[in-house]
Amino acid sequence: MKKFSICIIIFLTINTFLSSFKQQKIVYLKDIRYYSYPDYTRVVIDLSYPIKIKEKILPDQNKTRLYFDLKDCKLSSQYPDEKTREIIIDSGNLKKIRTGERGKYTRRIVFEFGHIEKYNKFYLVSPFRIVFDIFQDKTEEPSTYNTPITSPKNLENNYSIARQLGLGVHRIVIDPGHGGKDPGAINRKFNIYEKNVTLDIAKRLKSIIKKRSTYEVILTRENDRYISLEERTAIANSKKADLFISIHLNSAPRKSARGVETFYLSFASDPWAIRVAAQENATSTKNINEMKSIIEQIVKNTKISESKILSNCIQKNLVTQLKSKYRKINNLGVKKAPFYVLVGARMPAVLAEVSFLSNSQEAKRLKTSSYRYEIANGIYYGIMSYIKSLGKK
Ligand SMILES: [Zn+2]
Repeated sequence: MKKFSICIIIFLTINTFLSSFKQQKIVYLKDIRYYSYPDYTRVVIDLSYPIKIKEKILPDQNKTRLYFDLKDCKLSSQYPDEKTREIIIDSGNLKKIRTGERGKYTRRIVFEFGHIEKYNKFYLVSPFRIVFDIFQDKTEEPSTYNTPITSPKNLENNYSIARQLGLGVHRIVIDPGHGGKDPGAINRKFNIYEKNVTLDIAKRLKSIIKKRSTYEVILTRENDRYISLEERTAIANSKKADLFISIHLNSAPRKSARGVETFYLSFASDPWAIRVAAQENATSTKNINEMKSIIEQIVKNTKISESKILSNCIQKNLVTQLKSKYRKINNLGVKKAPFYVLVGARMPAVLAEVSFLSNSQEAKRLKTSSYRYEIANGIYYGIMSYIKSLGKK
């Protein structure tokens, strides 16, 4: 009898273990979002669990259908009803996205195009999502982020050639960090929200550029509204921006931390840079570490070299400008980190942490319009110095 009970317990334990394993393996499709523009569409597939997919192009004559299967996949209860069968996309080269079942637990997603040109695919975590960047034009774009490694030396040579060709700047996208339901960092003592300050600085920067130059400036948001990190880059890509500058305020548990730092996209090993990226990505440092291989693949195919130069120009000029008017401006330098908002940007892209909201003196300064103006001024000089370095206005 005793032996029999033990057997039952073992059986139940194994069964529970297996079913929990099975449960874990089921991936829930939570949403399919898209940001569509005439020449570019970004599709974001939200899933409950990280999985890798292998997409295929149906071998029809016109190459109009791209598909992939999500194995062990169910629709989440939060999946929008109106997207159950198909999602009609009216603009852009991606016409619609269809979803259907293939067998019991396999869900097939089909992208229907006018004609497939270039596209990139990558994964973001926390929450997990698969992102497709779909392009209409035939400009130099790596076919996917999984292309073989190009040696850094070759990349540098390519960028030099790009510089010699005088690929000038015409359009600048400025991204005021956070907005709407996402306040960013908050200083409760002084009642300052990062989202409000970044918007104000971005507007000042726009007006300075407009007044002093002929460059076109686009803000990712003009008011207090929420935009996902993936939509911000989508805006810059769709507008064919030549530069992308995301503006943020830093925050640290150590109240004495202060200063200015500028980042470009790369995987960071520096714990501080990882912490800043985790904060801005609204994720954990653990998840940032999981991003390592993704970021390493992506940076091989983006304008990292140019982004680094742009970061240097902005950091240097921002610090010089602030130092000319204020004391105790701390130059924290240029750093690299995996910021989601920079992933997939087709142009030199940087993220500037222009001051610490958690530092009392810097928070007090951030309340004043003169300090915000000087920050905008410093970034403007940084942009101009970068453009000058291209050798063409
Ligand atoms: Zn921020």
